[in-house]
Parts: sequence; structure tokens; C-alpha cells
Amino acid sequence: AVSAPGEFLGHPKGLYVCFATELWERFSFYGMKYLLLLYLTKYHLFTDMAGYDVLGAYAGLVYALPLIGGLIADRYLGMRKAVVFGALLLTAGHATMAYEGFQAMSYAAGTTLAEAITLNDGTVIAAGTVLAEDIIIQDIVALKVFFFALALITVGVGFLKPNISTIVGKLYAQDDPRRDSGFTIFYMGINIGSFIATLLCGWLGETYGWSYGFGAAGIGMLLGLITFLKFQHTLQGHAEPAEPARLKETFLGPINKEWAIYLGGLLSLSVVWLLVQHEPVVHVAQNSLLIVAIVGIILYSMLHQPEKGQDWLAIGVAIATMVLGLMWAFLGDDTWLGLMLLALVAFITYGFKSHNSAEYGRTVVLMVMIVSTIVFWSLFEQSAGSMTLYADRVLDREVGGTEVRASMFGSLNAGFIMLLAIPFAALWVWLAKRGWEPSTPVKFGLGILQAGLGFGALVIGAQFADEAGKVAIIWLVLAYLLHTTGELCLSPVGLSAVTKLSINKVVGVSMGTWFLATALSETVATRIGKMAAIDTSGAETADAASLLVTYTSLYEFLMWIGIGVGIFMIVISPILK
Ligand code: GLN
Repeated sequence: AVSAPGEFLGHPKGLYVCFATELWERFSFYGMKYLLLLYLTKYHLFTDMAGYDVLGAYAGLVYALPLIGGLIADRYLGMRKAVVFGALLLTAGHATMAYEGFQAMSYAAGTTLAEAITLNDGTVIAAGTVLAEDIIIQDIVALKVFFFALALITVGVGFLKPNISTIVGKLYAQDDPRRDSGFTIFYMGINIGSFIATLLCGWLGETYGWSYGFGAAGIGMLLGLITFLKFQHTLQGHAEPAEPARLKETFLGPINKEWAIYLGGLLSLSVVWLLVQHEPVVHVAQNSLLIVAIVGIILYSMLHQPEKGQDWLAIGVAIATMVLGLMWAFLGDDTWLGLMLLALVAFITYGFKSHNSAEYGRTVVLMVMIVSTIVFWSLFEQSAGSMTLYADRVLDREVGGTEVRASMFGSLNAGFIMLLAIPFAALWVWLAKRGWEPSTPVKFGLGILQAGLGFGALVIGAQFADEAGKVAIIWLVLAYLLHTTGELCLSPVGLSAVTKLSINKVVGVSMGTWFLATALSETVATRIGKMAAIDTSGAETADAASLLVTYTSLYEFLMWIGIGVGIFMIVISPILK
């Protein structure tokens, strides 16, 4: 096809700018994600439990904050400025991670100390002492710095991720038939970034030192930022603030609204910093805020009948409640309560929003679908959690004399997406032409079913473990393959369902709610992972055979959940239709 001006290979040039920027953002996110648990447990000698807590809070917040980032860009900042700010935070985050500190040291009970050691609380134990209990000395300063870097990345993603996807949508007219293929290209960018990151950062981090792995991700993000700044004119004004004059209005003294948003973003770093560390002070604050928010939303719903277009306050209050509910779920012990709260508030929000019953009906279907993805992602997101530790501890990772690093297995997901995304898109079209295309709920059921079957591969693989209890790589490859085909039945399909079913004015918020379900799943996933947690550090000393039993019983459980819920979804799908 001959390209029109402003186009390249039949798509707006801006698509390729978004493609490149999102590629590096995902490079940064996934490079970090797959290394995180290994870094905490092996370098800083966290227990599995503590490691999962950090992973759950980090990955969860990364998917929760886009709701706020999207809202701020819609209302004030515009997408372009939000993306630039987010990319700056991300780059700063990775630069901060270059500070590595010293590796934690552990001393087993019964050890006679050759020299005096200073504990983290400052007490000194003299040389010659025989230790009565296990002792671990960690570099607390390095950890605090690292958590701050995580906060920078989390807030950065919150500003960048939702808005770059929105720009892609805006590049096409409402009825442009190229929209879907545009999104498929964009999804490829996501997975190319993830693929390179999990291979490169994982290998660098585990082989040459963690700061190289984390640093590589920062260089990538800097390249993404430079590309975006250099080519932002190709977005043709689609990503500008809705009302630019408003940004220049005074907020406080010399600070205008635009700078107030940036300062707010920087201030939120401290909250996120506390959250990823599970600081007890946050528990108290969030529980009080949560109660205030719930009472607020109930009062508001009783007193206020929203006019068309006048319902921002309702959405704002509901979003605040959802986010607080999520944070509560992250940090308290009541994940399921948080989950129900999420569903409830989402329903109420959309109930508010609806001015006619057809919209309300569509919204209910959308909400049921979004909530059902929680099952899929909670299984799928074992990847950077228990499946990475499994790869590290149980898998026979030798290939032709070299050892494949545990963090590199996550690349299988992205690799399979790169191979299969286009065939799957073609498959749906092919089936549709013959009138055989499964409905969206059936596809969701199939996705969940395949997530279960993926764990089935690991259960079967365990039967063929060698005498040392090590499992062959092929079984994990098979698990990732099934998880990826499942993802392709659910994730791209879901994104399109969100844009189709959502009430027009709140597509951005609906998209945020879609990611919010992932956010919650990330924390649920780490809670599930904890069922196979080893309660001492230095798990390498535990024997592979007993570890295999632990992991296999977890995966058998997940297999039945996936198969059961998947089949249930398929059976009830006629009702949802
Ligand atoms: N893998 C996709 C991404 O990183 C989808 C993630 C999700 O929605 N849970 O964007």
C-alpha cells in the first residue's frame, strides 16, 4: 500500500513512536519484575514470604496507579506531557538502582564467630561467640534506596502506561478499520520489550551483578524517552492537554497547576515507598481512609443525582475507594475482602454512571468479565513469582553445558506472543467468517482453562524428574506455551471488549478498571505463591526432591482451579451473552 503523508506502512507514524516508547517502558518494567524476587532472596537474603510481599505490592501498585495517571492526563496534563514525566521517573528509578550496597550475610545457629559482627540494630557480638540462633545482616541503607527506586518506577509507569495506549487509540478515527491491527502492532511492541528485557537484564543481573541488569533497563528507558521527544510532532496534537490554559492557572503562590501535578507525583513517591515496604504506619492510615471513603461514597450516592457530564466527583470518589481498597488488600490480610470491595465499588460506580438501562446492562456484563480475569491473571502471574523460584530451584537448567538463568524463562511468554499474536488474530477472523467464532465469555473460559492446563504440564513433568529431583526444561516451556495461548484468548479480546462495552465517556476509566483487576491479581498471585514458600533464606540448601513436592502440590491445586473455573465459565456463557 502507498502511504499517505504522515503515515508509514499504512499506519500513522505516531503509532511507531508509541510502539518504541512502550517497548522501552515494558523493557524497564519486565526487566525489573523477573529479577526482583531473585534479587531480594539471593542478594539481600529475604525469606520467600518477605520477597513475595514486595513483589505483590510492587506489581500490584504498578497496575493500580494507571487509573490515576490516566485520569490526570484526561483532565489536565494531556497524554504527551504525562508520558514524558513518567519516562523521566522511570529513568531516574533505574539510575537509583545502580547503588547496590553490600550483599547480606547469614550466620547459622551454632557458628563460632571468627570476628566480631555488628547487627542491624547496632548491637555488637564479640568474636568467639557461639550463635544461639540464625542471624542475617542486611544492608538496610541499600534496601531503602532500592525501595525508593521501586517507587520511582511504579509512579513512572502510572503516568506512562495508560496514556501511551490511549494515544494509540486517538491516532485513528472512531470508525477506522485499521484500529485493531494498530493495537496488534502495539501489543507486539509490548512483548518485544518484555522479551529482550527478560533475556538481557536477567542474564546481566544474575551473571555480572544486579546493578548491570537494572541499569540496562534504565538505558533502555532513556532511549525510549529520547525517541519520544524527538518524534513527538508525529502525534499531530492528539496527545495535548484538553484545556492548556487551565494548566497555567495558579495553584498556590508561584506554582501553577501543571507544576502542582508534577510535585504531587513526586510527593506520592513517599507513599508508594512506604507501601512497597509494608510499613505498619500505612496500615493504620489506609484503614481509616478506607472507612472515610466508604462512608463518603454511600452518602454521596444518597445525596447526589448526577447530571449528564457532571459526574466526575462520583467517579473520583469511587476511584479513590477502589484504590484504597486495593492498598488495603495488599497490606492487610484480607485480600478477599478487598476483592469484593473492588467489585462492589465498580458496580456502584457504573450504576451511577448509567443514564439508561441498556448501558447499565452492558456495564454489568463488562464488570463480570473484568472480575473473571482475576482468576486468569492470578494463575498466570505465578510467572515472575513462584514459577521463577521453581525455575531457579527445581529445574534442570543446563542446556549444552551452559546454565540458563532462572529469570530468563519469563521471556518464553513474550516470545510465544510474538510468534502467535498474529496467527490468533487471524484465527478469530477465519472462525468468524464461518460463523464459528466463540463468544467473548467462551474465550475467557478457554483462557482460564489453558492456564490450568499449563500447570498440568508441570504436574506431569514432576513424574519424570531425575533422581536428584530436577525437572526437564521442556515442561516449563509447555506451561508457558499454554499460559500464552490462554492469554491470547483473554487479553487482546478483553481490551477490545472494554472499548466496545464501555460507556463512551469513561473508556479511560474502564481501561483503568481492567488493569485494576490485574493489579489485584498480582497480589493474589503472590499470596498463592506463598503456599510454596520456603521459610528459611538460602533455599539452595534445601534438597530439590522435597522442593519439587512442595511446588507440585501447589501447581496441582492451581491446575484444578483453572480447569474448574474455565469449564464453569464456558458452561454459563449463554447467560452472559
Ligand atoms: N502483558 C501485557 C502488558 O504488559 C498485559 C498485562 C495485563 O493486562 N495484565 O501490557
